[in-house]
Order: sequence, then structure tokens, then C-alpha cells
Amino acid sequence: MRRKLVVANRKMHGTIPDNRAFLEGLLEGTRDCRNSDYVVCFPHPYLYQAQSILTGTPIAWGGQNMSRHEAGPYTGSVSPGMLVELGCAYVIIGHSERRSRGHDSDNSVGERFQVAAKAGLKPIFCMGETLEEYEQGLTDLVTIRQLNAVIQQVGIKNLAQGILAYEPVWAIGTGKAASPEHAQSILHFLRGYLILKDPEVGENMRILYGGSLKAHNAAELFSMPDIDGGLVGGASLDTEEFVEICRAASSAGFPAA
Ligand code: PEP
Repeated sequence: MRRKLVVANRKMHGTIPDNRAFLEGLLEGTRDCRNSDYVVCFPHPYLYQAQSILTGTPIAWGGQNMSRHEAGPYTGSVSPGMLVELGCAYVIIGHSERRSRGHDSDNSVGERFQVAAKAGLKPIFCMGETLEEYEQGLTDLVTIRQLNAVIQQVGIKNLAQGILAYEPVWAIGTGKAASPEHAQSILHFLRGYLILKDPEVGENMRILYGGSLKAHNAAELFSMPDIDGGLVGGASLDTEEFVEICRAASSAGFPAA
């Protein structure tokens, strides 16, 4: 059985007091919701604060990106080892907001996956098609291309060290979420592709949906058999709404083994 996972992507938002209020509200609001897992991905300067508040709690934290290099003359970059030192268990890689601005190619996302996993982080590997690609019926082609770029670099067995997140670009920050049926059909397709390559990896892989996931659509999305949770941007800026999403995941989820 795959446990549900809800990941907050706080993007470039927050202040030290605001983060504290959010985390305290989240700890309180999920106290009795132990049937799923929760992760908060902060901008790098706030990871030390996350570590101070969340150490010893069931909530994990992570970065929103990292360098594909382990160390070196890369001004302004953050290495996987630095994230590990700050207690991160997760890191988002290949988010469309980074792919679309030319920072990340399919290939460099594969490299990031590899160095993140080597450092002991769980990469949350994002993939998804643009609106234009969606309208041209290219969703399957694009997501498989993005997935293969990572599999080619790390191998199918090592893919199991990460989490996949299907995030159609047209749904991110637009208020237009994919319907539960559409999200389910893509996640089912992706899982089927993985199962063909390695049944154990495919069956056990946690695959999230992301894109305008809100309190009002969370329960329906989480009721789909292949949707193992969500990656949540905008709605993670509102503590009450994010807590509601976590509660929906817990209601649809399973106790830890
Ligand atoms: C995201 O940025 O990963 C995301 C899913 O954003 P939103 O929930 O705001 O669509």
C-alpha cells in the first residue's frame, strides 16, 4: 500500500514570523492526521528555521531546487550536501517554473536526481506538459520524454529513491486544476509505463498530482487509485487551507506500517 504524501511548495514566499505561524498551525492542525505524510519545501534561507521548529515532529522539510554539482565555484548555488546538513529529507527538482526559464533541461534534471539521491535526499521529480502541448495531445509523449531522461541517467531501480509529481503547466497557479479523471488517467499511464520496466518500482512509486490543488478538490483527487497525494503551491500559503488538504489526504490514506 502506498501512503499518501502532501508536499507544500512555498515558492518565493514567507518571512520568519509568517513561517513560524504556518508551521505551528500545521503541527496543530495535523496532530490527529497520521494516515499520510507531510513535507514543507521552503526557500533556502528558511531551512534552518524549518529544522529548528520541525526536528522531532512527524513533518519533514526540503528545498525547492539544488545544484547538480556537489561543490565548486558556482556562485549563488546550493549543494545537495548543504540541504542534508540542514536536515532536509526532500528536494523538488525539475519544477516547471525552473524548466520554463531555461535553467533546467531534461538532462540537467536527471543529473540533479542522481546527485540528490546520492546525497541521501528524496528528489520530488516534477514533470508535465504546457498548455500548447496539452492542446496538441502531447501529454503522454512529453511526460515520458521527461521521465526517460531521468531513468537513462539513474536507472529504473534508483528511480525508486524519489517521488514523481505530475504537474500540468496549464494547471499551476491558474486555478484550473486537472479533473480527477484526467489526473488519474495520466498517473495510471505513467505507473503502467514504470510497471513495464520494473513491476516493483512501478507498483510502489508514489506519484503526486500538482496544479491548483485546493481544499475544495483535494478529497476527490485523493480518492483516485493512482494519485498518491499532492504537490501544493498557492494553497500552502494559507495555513487553514493547507491543513484541510492534509486532513483530506489522511482521511484517504493508511496508517504507517
Ligand atoms: C506548484 O507550484 O508546484 C503548484 C502546484 O502550484 P499551485 O498549487 O499554485 O498550482
